Amino acid sequence: MDVSDLARSVIAGDRRALARAITLVESRRDDHRAAARSLLAEVQAAGRQALRIGLSGTPGVGKSTLIESLGLLLTAQGLRVAVLAVDPSSARSGGSILGDKTRMERLSRDPLAFIRPSPSQTQLGGVARRSREAVALCEAAGFDVVLIETVGVGQSETMVAELCDIFVLLLAPAGGDELQGVKRGIMEMADLILVNKADGDLKPAALRTCADYAGALHLLRRRPQDPPGFPKALTVSALADTGLAEAWTEIRNLAAWRQDHGHWANRRAGQARHWFSEEVRQGLLAELNHDPARARMENLGQAVAAGRMTPDAAAAEMLAALAHSTP
Ligand code: GDP
Repeated sequence: MDVSDLARSVIAGDRRALARAITLVESRRDDHRAAARSLLAEVQAAGRQALRIGLSGTPGVGKSTLIESLGLLLTAQGLRVAVLAVDPSSARSGGSILGDKTRMERLSRDPLAFIRPSPSQTQLGGVARRSREAVALCEAAGFDVVLIETVGVGQSETMVAELCDIFVLLLAPAGGDELQGVKRGIMEMADLILVNKADGDLKPAALRTCADYAGALHLLRRRPQDPPGFPKALTVSALADTGLAEAWTEIRNLAAWRQDHGHWANRRAGQARHWFSEEVRQGLLAELNHDPARARMENLGQAVAAGRMTPDAAAAEMLAALAHSTP
């Protein structure tokens, strides 16, 4: 199919076209990449925006259960919801923590929902690009909300935070009164902390954990992009479906406030800039793996190893060569 036809079908909301378009941006073939690039340029012209919500949490915390419950809540209001999984572990192991087909069974049957698992074989550097482009395609297809799910490991939260408008951190009730070793940097990225499993025997622990996090969030410096009271911690039960409507109200209010105050557009502009420089960085790194740069790296490396050149001089020569090889 012609790229312009595909773009038109995506914009018309054709789900099979959307699935095909995402497959295209996931491809590593050079001709596919070129087609993907024109496709993305065409769909961007549609100028549609969805509310992008990032959701992070360790395996078992209840991400799929929550996405299913929240997703059904939103589709019941007539909203169109896309769910994308970002799973960096699939790049390393070839298997995906988030790719399991049996997840979110009810939501996957909902005609207003679209669920796309993480591809099983992406290159590490490709995860961010694929996710970003899949989000853009879902927006162009007219979804109101795009949920971007990731496992709380390594760099994935930082990546998702650069992809979304609102970042939600999902936590489980802690055993004791200690905070669950959530890194400060991750907490600082969160707009909303949801302590899940606030039901049955776990409820008291969930309330305690939530209070601990609310206290910790309170100590963080207030960010200019936040109205008073944010970031916030709430308890929810994805299983019993409690607290989710409240969480959604908070998300909507925060999104509206940021839109009214220009922070929404600023954040998106900053993200676009971030991804641009990230692509350039990745491109330069990729160049090192191809001749003539690769051969030159090898020769200079040998010279350094043999003591004929200092590492600094060799690096300077390499960088000068790269600078001259690019137009
Ligand atoms: P994920 O790995 O983060 O996607 O977690 P899942 O959604 O697969 O949930 C992991 C386990 O926790 C499952 O056995 C769920 O039934 C359970 N679970 C999820 N949400 C809740 C909740 O709100 N309350 C309770 N009690 N269990 C939950």
